[in-house]
Amino acid sequence: MTTKQDCIFCKIKSGDIPAAQVYEDDKVLAFLDISQVTKGHTLVIPKKHEENVFELSEETSTALFSAVPKIARALKAAYEPVGLNILNNNGEEAGQSVFHYHLHLIPRYGKGDGYG
Ligand code: 5GP
Ligand code: ZN
Repeated sequence: MTTKQDCIFCKIKSGDIPAAQVYEDDKVLAFLDISQVTKGHTLVIPKKHEENVFELSEETSTALFSAVPKIARALKAAYEPVGLNILNNNGEEAGQSVFHYHLHLIPRYGKGDGYG
């Protein structure tokens, strides 16, 4: 289990690790992925450290998913994708590598955008 003290995303939230911020409100933060699979690949996290969907509270979930359309529209305006995938890995065996809940917003640019 990752504690808040050794969590990369908690360190981004506190400003200890820099990240290119896309969106912020009192409960949610979004920033560009350090290794973008397409241009504008963004991670959306709750400010509260909850590990995965099995831990996610209703309050956190509501705040997070309420922010998603706003963030998607901001990405659409900034990068002009033709589509967007939303992805979430829960548990190491499911591909989760950072154990602070997050959604991947992956803008898509059509065939040949290099993803999927
Ligand atoms: P997961 O595999 O847990 O679904 O996704 C974790 C994501 O976090 C990966 O896409 C990875 O590139 C991203 N990531 C890991 N460390 C950092 C970091 O220090 N800064 C940023 N912006 N993204 C990170
Ligand atoms: Zn965390």
